[in-house]
Amino acid sequence: MPDDSTATAPTAPRGGSETASEAAATVLERADALAARTEEPGRLTRRFATPALAQAGDLVLGWMRDAGMTAHRDAIGNVAGRWAPPGLPAGAPTLLLGSHLDTVRDAGRYDGMLGVLVALAVVEGARGRDGGVPFAIEVLGFADEEGVRYGTAYLGSSVVAGTFDRSALERRDADGIAMADAIAAFGGDPAALEAARRDPADLLGYVEVHIEQGPVLEAEDLPVGVVTGIAGRTRAELVFTGFAGHAGTVPMTLRRDALAGAAEWIGAAEAHARSVDGLTRGRDSGGIIAGLISKAGLTQLDCGLPAAIERV
Ligand SMILES: [Zn+2]
Repeated sequence: MPDDSTATAPTAPRGGSETASEAAATVLERADALAARTEEPGRLTRRFATPALAQAGDLVLGWMRDAGMTAHRDAIGNVAGRWAPPGLPAGAPTLLLGSHLDTVRDAGRYDGMLGVLVALAVVEGARGRDGGVPFAIEVLGFADEEGVRYGTAYLGSSVVAGTFDRSALERRDADGIAMADAIAAFGGDPAALEAARRDPADLLGYVEVHIEQGPVLEAEDLPVGVVTGIAGRTRAELVFTGFAGHAGTVPMTLRRDALAGAAEWIGAAEAHARSVDGLTRGRDSGGIIAGLISKAGLTQLDCGLPAAIERV
């Protein structure tokens, strides 16, 4: 992945005279610049509170300031930029826009970044438009959504939402660095995480543009979709207990085969999932259900195979 930082960043101030395609080109250009901020040469990996994340955040802070926003990092290292149209009355609400700036290992360059950069483009467009909007806009670039470094996700947004779990501060990464120390080294303040919470009474809402992580839009040749529900996940480990016997002498009516029982359960669970409205229409949700069923199948195999072997 080329380091094209000098060619693309930071870009000149943008305004409302820009066409939509020019604004889109800027978003893609900036995504390329962010993709060059990586922990691993040749592929994009940017975990929470790393120098690569600091560099990406610095780029975004620069673009925010170029767009006339007041910008800073909060106590956990989220990047936040605020813009209010001239003459906005005191006490007017704020609309939050944004996404995450951290990535998984070997990530795509639009996962997360697209939502931050489109939000920035929205401010740049609103800024040059007569009349503006009757609210302030804040763009957030969350420092952690993926949870790669500490095995627990949404660190950035949980601080904004006021739901951060302080016990997570004691977690250690693969190098033994405690999260509290990583936050401090990143310029944050573990003691101020609660104070960084945003009061819902001040907010209009939160809107995020994100790449689709399923195949539906592409399969249906649609450019964009509006999220009407979000995936919820429940993990369960199931144990199917059978009864070992001699394969040649135990008649079928007396067999209790764990593998066959689990297979019946898997089929029933799949049939149920296919009958639930919302899961059948949202094919991405259906895929997650299928994943659960596959896992249940593996769990069952673990307990079923020994019984099957004993029978032989
Ligand atoms: Zn994402």
